[in-house]
Amino acid sequence: MTNLDLARLFQRLATMLEIDGANPFRVRAYREAARVVESQAEPIEALAGEPKRLEELPGIGKDLAQKIRDVVATGSTALYDEMKAKVPEEIVALTELQGLGPKRVKTLMERLQIHSRQDLEAAGKTGRLRELPGFGEVLEQKILKALAATREASGRRLLAEVWAVAHGLAEHVAKTRGVQQVEIAGSFRRRRETVGDLDLLAAGGDPEAVMKAFTTHPEVADILGLGDTKSSVRLASGLQVDLRLIPPESFGAALLYFTGSKQHNIQLRRIAIEKGMSLSEYGLARGAKQVAGRTEEEVYRALGMSWVPPELREARDEIERAIEGRLPSLVDLSDLRADLHMHSDRTDGRESLETMVRAAKARGHGYCAITEHSKALPMLKGFDEARVRRSVDEVAAVRQRVPGIRVLHGLEVDILADGALDLDDDTLALLDWVVISLHTRLGQPGPEITARVLRALAHPRVSVMGHPTARMIGGREPAAFDMERALEEAAARGVLMEINAQPDRLDLNDINARMAHTKGVKMVISTDAHSVAQLDNQRYGVFVARRAGLEKGDIANTLPYEQFMEALRRARPGGASAGGARGATTTAAKETPAAARARGKAARGKAARGAKARPARRKSR
Ligand SMILES: [Zn+2]
Ligand SMILES: [Zn+2]
Repeated sequence: MTNLDLARLFQRLATMLEIDGANPFRVRAYREAARVVESQAEPIEALAGEPKRLEELPGIGKDLAQKIRDVVATGSTALYDEMKAKVPEEIVALTELQGLGPKRVKTLMERLQIHSRQDLEAAGKTGRLRELPGFGEVLEQKILKALAATREASGRRLLAEVWAVAHGLAEHVAKTRGVQQVEIAGSFRRRRETVGDLDLLAAGGDPEAVMKAFTTHPEVADILGLGDTKSSVRLASGLQVDLRLIPPESFGAALLYFTGSKQHNIQLRRIAIEKGMSLSEYGLARGAKQVAGRTEEEVYRALGMSWVPPELREARDEIERAIEGRLPSLVDLSDLRADLHMHSDRTDGRESLETMVRAAKARGHGYCAITEHSKALPMLKGFDEARVRRSVDEVAAVRQRVPGIRVLHGLEVDILADGALDLDDDTLALLDWVVISLHTRLGQPGPEITARVLRALAHPRVSVMGHPTARMIGGREPAAFDMERALEEAAARGVLMEINAQPDRLDLNDINARMAHTKGVKMVISTDAHSVAQLDNQRYGVFVARRAGLEKGDIANTLPYEQFMEALRRARPGGASAGGARGATTTAAKETPAAARARGKAARGKAARGAKARPARRKSR
C-alpha cells in the first residue's frame, strides 16, 4: 500500500466521519493524518514495521498509529469498516462534486433524504436545492452542471487510482506456481485516462491454485464468480476485476482481444478475412489450422504488420502505419530528464523548495523548474513582484545547497481575465521559465477566452502554457477557447505546451497533444507536483504522450539541460531563459535577439564547463 493509498483512505474516513456528524476536531485529526502520510518521503509501510516510528510523525498519536498499522496489515481498520457500513459509497462520492463537501452532503441527507446522484439531480431540477440553508440558486446550477460533467466519468476511475492495486493483483497471481505470464489488459493497458473494470489474463499454472490466489488477495471484498477459466471479484474499493486463465498457445490472441479497443480489433478481423483467415480470442486460424496466437507479435506479423503498442490501438491510423512500417517510436518515462512544474510550501505546496529539488534529483532528473503561483491567487500565497525578487536569492541558495541538478527559477503566472499576465515585464525578466496558466474565469465564452489565450501566448516572456484547458477529469469541463488557433499561435511564437501529469488533469489530453504535434508545437511533460509523492505522477503524462503517438523528439524535457536551454533561446530569442538559469538576473526586458544570442553563447560556455565537472549520474527510475 503506497502512502497515497493510505492518505486517500484516511481522507475518506474523515469525510465519512464528517457526514456522520462527528466532532470537528476528530475529523480534522484524520485529515491532518492523511496530509502527513501523503507528504512522507519514506514509505509508511516501512515505518509501520518499526517500533515508535509512526508515533514520531507530527500529529500521529498512539491511536492513529495503531490505525495506520491496521490498514498496512489488513487493508482496513475497524473504524473504517464501521463507517463504510454507515455511510454508503454513493454518499461519499457526492462530496467530490464541485460545490459540495461533507457538510453540504450532510444537509442534503438530513433535509431532503438525498442518497444518490439521481436523488440529487431530481432535487436540483425541481428547484429544491436552492431552498436549503447556505445553498441558493447559483449553487444549485453549479451542482447540476457538475452532475452533467461527471456523468460520463462516473463508474470509471482514474488510471492512477487503480495503478497500484492492479499491479499488486497481477504480481500476486504471477507468484502462483507454474504461472508463466500475467497481463493487465483492457483500457488499463491502453493507458486511458480512466478505467472501468480490470481484466487480468494469466497463462500456466494449476487453475484451482491460480484462482485461489486471485480470490484470496487481501483487497478482495466479494467473489462474484469462481470458475476454472474465469473468476470475478469486487475489491474493497468497489472496483470489479476479472481474471481469465488462457492456454499458452492462445495467450497473445486473447491479450489482443481483451486489450481492445473494439474498433481496432474489428479492423484486424477484417484484414484477417481479406487474407483468408479468421481472428478470435483463441487465435488466428486458416480453416481449422491455427496460424498464430501465442504472442501478439506473432498475430500482427501473420497479418502483415508490425506490433502496435497498446496505447495506439484506438482505430485512428495505427493499422495503416503498422502495415507501412511507419509506427512512431513512442517516448518513454526513462527519456525524461526534467520536471518543469513544481510547487513548494512557499505557496500551496507541502514541502520546502530544497526538499522538492532534492526529490527531483533523486528521481534522476538533471534539471527542474520551481514554479510557484502568482499574486492573482492570494489564498495560495501567490507571489507578487517583491516576492519574486526575494525568490531569486532563495533559488540561488538552493542551487548552492543541492549540487548536481540545475534549477530553473520559474513561476506559474496567471493569465488574467483580459489575457494580460499577472506580473509586470521587469519581474518576468527575473525568471528563467515562465509557465502561464488559466485558473480563474474559466467559464468565459469561446471568443472571449480565445482572445485572452492568444494575447497571453503572444507575450514575449512566455515559455510554456500550463495545463492548457484547465479541465478536471470528472469535475470540470475544459475551457472553451479555440485550441487549434491557440496551438497555431504557440507554434508561431515558439511557446511550448504542457502535458500536465496530474492524474485528474492530463491536460493537454491525447487528442490535443496529437493536434499540437501536427501543428509543430513541442511539448513538455511535467507533474505540477505539490508534494514529493506527486513527482511520481510523471508516468501518467508520458502515457498521454504515447497515446498521442509522440516520440522523444517531440518532448522538450527529454533534452539534456544545455540543449534544452539552447532550444528555448532559439525558440524565444529575448524571452524568458534567454540568459540561462544562472544569468537570468541580468536579462533586460528589451534586449535584442542578437544581444541575447551573444550572451547565450557565453552562458553556454559556462554551462558546458559545469557539465564536464559534474560526475555522471544514473537514472534511478
Ligand atoms: Zn495551475
Ligand atoms: Zn501548478
